[in-house]
Amino acid sequence: MPDAEGVGASGRRLRVCALYPDLLNIYADRGNLLLLERRCSWRGIGFELASSGLGEPLDADAHELFYLGGGQDRDQLLCAQDLIETKRSGLHAAATRGAVVLGVCGGYQLLGRSYTLGRERIEGVGLLDVETVREDAHRLIGNIAIEVSLDHTGGAELLVGFENHGGRTRLSPGQDALGRVLKGHGNDGRSGMEGARSGNTIGTYLHGPLLPKNTWFADWLIARALGLQPHELAPLDDTLERAAHANAGRAAGVQVG
Ligand code: GLN
Repeated sequence: MPDAEGVGASGRRLRVCALYPDLLNIYADRGNLLLLERRCSWRGIGFELASSGLGEPLDADAHELFYLGGGQDRDQLLCAQDLIETKRSGLHAAATRGAVVLGVCGGYQLLGRSYTLGRERIEGVGLLDVETVREDAHRLIGNIAIEVSLDHTGGAELLVGFENHGGRTRLSPGQDALGRVLKGHGNDGRSGMEGARSGNTIGTYLHGPLLPKNTWFADWLIARALGLQPHELAPLDDTLERAAHANAGRAAGVQVG
């Protein structure tokens, strides 16, 4: 049991803040939060989940991980202005001190510099140097697999999921992508790149939800948020989780393992 401070038996605690959990939550993106909670509690890591909705402030120092899920355009519009007005400086402060910031799909778009729909240009948080334009062309939909190398060790790992977006995201020249598309569309259906990463800030189009299909990545995020290496986390029996990962990979047309 976590103590009064929320610190678990491991002596550690992960504090997560979900931004607009009622508005940015399509494809059960909330499942990503449940997954983080489970993997922490199985390891005796205290877990605290807070939320910050429309008009609510954001305490940059009170959380190690900030999360924005995906949303329909209209919900995204509702959040965008509030994000700029009440949360942008807090998110920048959190990212600067090394907190993890994870945005999925609509959340990813809002972490960028802008999202343009027709004549309307919505300003983003600007943590990722990307711009998204909603084209009239077909939506980019389907199962997706990408290859990522998060620790620049040369070793590549696989992220699998599902994408459905009308926006096309373009990376500025100095901006790293999260990964390389093996199957699916990725950022814009053309570049072969998916998502974006700057330090501990990550944006991706992968729903699924992302983390239950890629528990190795969930552990990487937990470790980063706690200032650890992934191998320092207690191992778990991931038989079912690995099967889910392989299954999602097969759905995308990629053989896993
Ligand atoms: N509204 C955005 C788009 O369609 C994001 C959708 C989503 O989060 N799935 O591009």
